[in-house]
Amino acid sequence: MKVFETINDTKRYLKQAKEQRKSIGFVPTMGALHQGHLSLVDYACKDNDLVAVSVFVNPIQFNNKQDLEKYPRDIVGDTKKLEKAGVDMIFMPPEQEMYPEHETTQYDFGQLDKVMEGRFRPGHFNGVAIVVRKLFEIIEPDRAYFGQKDFQQLAIIKELVRKEQMNVEIVPCPIVREDDGLAMSSRNARLTREQREVAPDIYKALLETRHYAGKKPINELKKEMTGKLNITSHMEVEYFEIVDANTLQPIHDWTESENIVACAAVFVGEVRLIDNMMLF
Ligand code: AMP
Repeated sequence: MKVFETINDTKRYLKQAKEQRKSIGFVPTMGALHQGHLSLVDYACKDNDLVAVSVFVNPIQFNNKQDLEKYPRDIVGDTKKLEKAGVDMIFMPPEQEMYPEHETTQYDFGQLDKVMEGRFRPGHFNGVAIVVRKLFEIIEPDRAYFGQKDFQQLAIIKELVRKEQMNVEIVPCPIVREDDGLAMSSRNARLTREQREVAPDIYKALLETRHYAGKKPINELKKEMTGKLNITSHMEVEYFEIVDANTLQPIHDWTESENIVACAAVFVGEVRLIDNMMLF
């Protein structure tokens, strides 16, 4: 497995692969890898001749400085896991390599980034779009793999690819969960034992939402779930939304859309966790 820190080395290596007409699968990550990330790698390995993974904690997608500083990092562990998973190449650039100068690009994603994560993390998706676009230009993958755990991010990436007419297939991958239902996340490592114990309640609330989908009025259900989570110790809901799975706009009646997803962001102590579940 090759590990590169520069864009030039990465491009040089991939140029050879392209000349040999190898298909390239790409998995962008911020490291501190877990089974969720590795499942994306597995899908990429099945579909492609060569698999590249990037490990880069993208500073411009963090709207909260503390969150960036506390973001878990484990370069040695990540390298071992990716080698074992059969990855061909890791791109692990220092910040200066990705951002030699101040970024000013402003994307317009219409209403897609005005809700949920976009509303509570201003600038977040612009930062995501900038880094993903840069990474796509460096790697030029045939396929890129993204987790449905970050449901809104996936919608933004699809829109970015459509708008910019990029020649890459976006492959959505299912959410990987712990045995107790908690969606795997690098941030879970920051939970205390007590916080970790209550964290699966987010998943339980989503399951309950799915159970009552189409039966209880949407606003009532959202309020009920928000209330339930908020009375759980250590927990504070930032949003609990029921939205159209394509437009991501909140719906108020079950008949408004055929593809509906429930999305939540919940603080467990200081750790902000997100999760979602398709209802229809
Ligand atoms: P991150 O390192 O958090 O930027 O995540 C990198 C990629 O892994 C993104 O496409 C995420 O959606 C995906 N991912 C993170 N956690 C999970 C999970 N539990 N299940 C599936 N995909 C995930």
